[in-house]
Amino acid sequence: KGELMRGKKGLVMGVANHNSIAWGIASQLAAQGAEMAFTYQGEELERRVRPLAESIGVKTMIPCDVTDDASMDAAFAEIEKAFGTIDFVVHSVAFANKNELKGSFVDNTTREGFLLAMNISAFSFVDVAKRASKLMPNGGSLITMTYLGSERTIPNYNTMGVAKAALEASTRYIARDLGPKGIRCNAISAGAMRTLALAGIAGGRGMIAQGRAFSAMKEDTSMEGVAGCALWLASDLGKSTTGEVVHVDAGFHMMGMPDAEEA
Ligand code: NAD
Repeated sequence: KGELMRGKKGLVMGVANHNSIAWGIASQLAAQGAEMAFTYQGEELERRVRPLAESIGVKTMIPCDVTDDASMDAAFAEIEKAFGTIDFVVHSVAFANKNELKGSFVDNTTREGFLLAMNISAFSFVDVAKRASKLMPNGGSLITMTYLGSERTIPNYNTMGVAKAALEASTRYIARDLGPKGIRCNAISAGAMRTLALAGIAGGRGMIAQGRAFSAMKEDTSMEGVAGCALWLASDLGKSTTGEVVHVDAGFHMMGMPDAEEA
């Protein structure tokens, strides 16, 4: 237990189950004294999310579909009612249709699927920034989750890679706009981890194995490492860091070529 988040209140979006990155982050923030509200996608997830929330003392749980303005309005109204002001948001939400997360990007990408991925995985963060910043009169920290498929091509990641590129660019524009208000905005680029979202990508398990094999550290990305980065960015330790995409992937992103024996 620590004190790094003592006195800080915030919102964590995107806990679906105990494997969710949002859950890994929320537990570390709670252990450092953060007070949190959770939003989750819909009623059918409540059964899984409620016991997790209760286990770390989260009392405010709000269903919220980020594609629905009325749902976002209601969620942020409830957060304002519960907390008044907030200090941080963790946005850990993404979606693309399964048939756009496999095979040929050129052949399989549809207008509807492309726009849906953009809406849920990129625009929602801009919308969250707009709403959350109104509840941050004393400054704050906005954090989103991204993946290397935004910067480089990764097999099957396809439409989601394009959406993550938009998300990362949005992170910089949000940081620029809200910087004068003392609100920081950063993205964590995590290595592949075994979650529901990864299961939607063709060959998702291969992404973990290859990520490990081609990483500098020759190991999987750990939830502790990702959550530790979120703790840094959400707390005052992250002062002066904004508009950044921080890679937490055991050094996968910077390897230009596999080791000779792997080639
Ligand atoms: P996850 O499935 O546990 O989390 C994804 C969340 O998005 C779920 O809680 C889901 O309910 C939510 N969501 C989807 N559509 C929504 C909507 N319309 N409204 C509200 N919520 C919605 O999987 P995860 O891996 O923890 O994913 C969290 C974030 O981390 C995503 O942005 C993902 O792209 C990113 N990420 C994941 C990995 C990985 O390997 N798992 C790596 C890097 C980045």
